Amino acid sequence: MANREIGVAVLGLGNVGSEVARLLLESSDDYKSRVGAPVILRGVAVRTISADRGIPVDLLTTDAQALVDRDDVDIVVEVIGGIEPVRTLILSALNSGKSVVTANKALLADYTGELADAAKSSNVDLYFEAAVAGAIPVVRPLMQSLAGDRVNRVVGIVNGTTNFILSAMAETGAAYEDVLAEAGRLGYAEADPTADVEGYDAAAKAAILASLAFHTRVTAADVYREGISAITAEDIASAKAVDCTVKLLAICERIIGADGVSSVSARVYPALVPLAHPLANVNGAFNAIVVEAEAAGRLMFYGQGAGGGPTASSVLGDLISAARNRVHGGKGPGESNYAQLAMSPFGDTPTRYHVCMEVTDRVGVLSAVAAEFAKHNVSISVVRQEDTDYGASLVVVTHMATEAALQETVASLADLEYVNAVTSVLRLEGTAE
Ligand code: NAP
Repeated sequence: MANREIGVAVLGLGNVGSEVARLLLESSDDYKSRVGAPVILRGVAVRTISADRGIPVDLLTTDAQALVDRDDVDIVVEVIGGIEPVRTLILSALNSGKSVVTANKALLADYTGELADAAKSSNVDLYFEAAVAGAIPVVRPLMQSLAGDRVNRVVGIVNGTTNFILSAMAETGAAYEDVLAEAGRLGYAEADPTADVEGYDAAAKAAILASLAFHTRVTAADVYREGISAITAEDIASAKAVDCTVKLLAICERIIGADGVSSVSARVYPALVPLAHPLANVNGAFNAIVVEAEAAGRLMFYGQGAGGGPTASSVLGDLISAARNRVHGGKGPGESNYAQLAMSPFGDTPTRYHVCMEVTDRVGVLSAVAAEFAKHNVSISVVRQEDTDYGASLVVVTHMATEAALQETVASLADLEYVNAVTSVLRLEGTAE
């Protein structure tokens, strides 16, 4: 195999694809030395061809399938996004013995199984480091560096848009809608921000992380999801009052039942994080992921989770690895799904709650509220009361309890005579109790 050329097809020339193509052309001498063979860009698939796209126009094509099918293409880099036509393109590449590098979390979150099976049966690589947290290496550490360890928890800030919004709300005290509009103006939020602010993007990444961490196929549909659009300036201020901040977290956790059997909890929601926790200080559009493994302990990965250049760095790292494998023979490690752990029901998830209520300021309110928590076996950690114009606001922070017990408690609080309204319910993560 030595001295052969490695032909590369890039599908897409947008934010990520244009950086991938540019670096492939500019760094060809270095890549040749790193791979042990020339890495040649055969073509780039786009929707519209024009001379001002930053790469020679004769490399552009609108026929992605024909580019994938070329005999001189060994590796297909997919940076188009979405499900179709890329699922079909990737499957045809894998089935014809080509390695694939993709940054497409939406596709992987639902179709990893199908794609991994195709890669396995053709004995080729399917790499996707860029699909989770852009430039941050976390897929390879989970698949390879920690392959000898037992991962128990992966908690991350994996969506830059929502982290930008929540950080700005915490810094300025501004309302969600105002900060979202500002994020749009600055280019941190898409015209339709739903995938980011409602947690769909983070849920796709949580599915990928949970699959890797627990050797189990997890899809986006398995991930419990809540977004940040209901978070108010009052929630952020209330979090501050108990030395916390609010972050949208993707949490993948091994839950060990009373019978000793492990199951997987994968969830995405905005949660209070203590200011002393490393994730509390991840601000702006940055991402960070904390991995807890039995022997390694706690590891933290931090950096730029999006952007053309940072994401291209991950894509090109995968491309070089796949190219090396083709030059030297064999393939890298593929999907590991031997454990096939069951998903843990959301109601069984252990968590803590931060509950805000408007109450009538009179004797007996506190004990009535405390009794309601006790009735559901939920132990209280902190109670904070403030007088307001309409009575009092009461904040209760609980110890660890199951999600089901906490939800039942909150539901019954609203029926108490002196509780006028339960104004906010947020989970508290990143503490032991
Ligand atoms: P983008 O800017 O929207 O670019 C998409 C590209 O795909 C465009 O060049 C478009 O062509 C091309 N395209 C669309 N449909 C096509 C088709 N049917 N045939 C051929 N080409 C087609 O997207 P992006 O931001 O670069 O993202 C690409 C992928 O990377 C997505 O999966 C995304 O989730 C992932 N990703 C992105 C980031 C980021 O920061 N942007 C970070 C991590 C992962 P035209 O240019 O001709 O319209």
